[in-house]
Amino acid sequence: MQSFNPPIRTLMGPGPSDVHPRVLQAMARPTIGHLDPYFIEMMDQTKQALKYAFKTQNELTMPVSAPGSAGMETCFANLVEPGDKVIVCINGVFGNRMKENVIRFGGEAIVVEDKWGEAITIEKVEQALKENPDTKILAFVHAETSTGAQSDAKALCALADQYGCLNIVDAVTSLAGTELRVDDWGIDAIYSGTQKCMSAPPGLSPISFSKRAIQKLSNRKIPVTSWFLDLNLVMGYWGKGTKRAYHHTAPVNTLYGLHESLVMLMEEGIENSWARHKQQHETLKLSLEAMGIKFLVKERDRLPQLNTVWIPEGADDALVRSTLLNEYNLEIGAGLGDLAGKVWRIGLMGHSARNENVLLATAALKEVLSR
Ligand SMILES: *Cc1c(COP(=O)(O)O)cnc(C)c1O
Repeated sequence: MQSFNPPIRTLMGPGPSDVHPRVLQAMARPTIGHLDPYFIEMMDQTKQALKYAFKTQNELTMPVSAPGSAGMETCFANLVEPGDKVIVCINGVFGNRMKENVIRFGGEAIVVEDKWGEAITIEKVEQALKENPDTKILAFVHAETSTGAQSDAKALCALADQYGCLNIVDAVTSLAGTELRVDDWGIDAIYSGTQKCMSAPPGLSPISFSKRAIQKLSNRKIPVTSWFLDLNLVMGYWGKGTKRAYHHTAPVNTLYGLHESLVMLMEEGIENSWARHKQQHETLKLSLEAMGIKFLVKERDRLPQLNTVWIPEGADDALVRSTLLNEYNLEIGAGLGDLAGKVWRIGLMGHSARNENVLLATAALKEVLSR
C-alpha cells in the first residue's frame, strides 16, 4: 500500500467541479475540536456567508454534514408528515428522487411530469394545484443537472404561495451559478451542494428554512423519523449562542474548505459569480456551435453551468470521453437515463467556469472528434 496521488484533472462534468487551490489549502490547516471557540466562530461566519449566498435572512441557514442528497432528505424528512400531499415536478433524475423521498416519509406524491430537457410547465403545476386543494408542499428542482434545464423558481414559488402551499427547492446546481433569491422569491426550504458552483469539494449541503417552514416543523404531530437529519436536534449544535450541545462531529476540515469558498464568493460578489457562469457559457456555446454541435435544451431554458449537447453523428461516446480523460486530463459528463449515449454534459461550475477551461474543452473536443 502506498500514498494515493490522484492525477490532476480538469473537471467539466456535472460535478464535482474544479476545487480552487485556496479551498484545498484551507482544508489542509490543522484540525481543531468541533466545540473549540475558534471553530464555533468559524461556524457562525459560515452561516452568515451562506445567508449572503442564498440571499436570505433566514435564521435557519447552515450546511448539513453530508452531500446534496442529504440536504434533499433533510427537507423532506422535516417537512413531510405522514399523509401530506406533495406535488413533485419531475423533468429529470433529481425530481424522481424527490418523489422517492416523499413516499419514504409517508407522504402522497402527486407527480407533474415534463419531458427531460424541458423546463417545468407552470400551467401543468397550476392544474395539479387546482385538482388537489389539500396539497401541503410543492417540490421542484431549480437546475436539473441531468438535462441542463432551468425552471422558473420565482414563478413556481409564487404559485405555491397562491394555493397555500410551502415549497421545497433543489438548488444543488444553481447556488452561485445562476440567479437565486431565497427571500425575494419566497422559498421555504432549499438545499444545495458544495461541489457544483461553490468551488469546494463534495461532502456538505447548505440548507435554509423560512419561518413558515419552521412553523410546519414545530407543529409536527410525530417526531422527524430520521434522528441524524432532525433539525430540532441539529440546531442545538448549529444554532445561536455559545451553548452548543454535541449532536455529531462536524467535518471540521471540509468546513474550512466551504468557509474559504464563501470568502472567495464574497470577494467576487454573488451577482458577478452568476455573470461569470453566463459569460463562460456564451463563449462555450459559440465555439461548440461553430463545430456544428447542438444543444439539447432550448435557448431560453438553458443552464449556463451545465451544457447538454447532442453527441455528433459517428462519434463514439465512451471513446471520446475516455480519450479526453486520458490524453487531456479532461472530464466531461455522460448522458443519464434515456439520454445515455446520446448527449454529453459539459459543466462550467464554480472554479471550472473560466477561460482556460473553455479553451481546453473546445480545442480538445475538436481535436478528438477530427480523428
Ligand atoms: C448533484 C445533485 C444532487 C445530489 O447531490 P450529491 O452531492 O451528489 O448528493 C441533487 N440534486 C441536483 C440537482 C444535483 O445536481
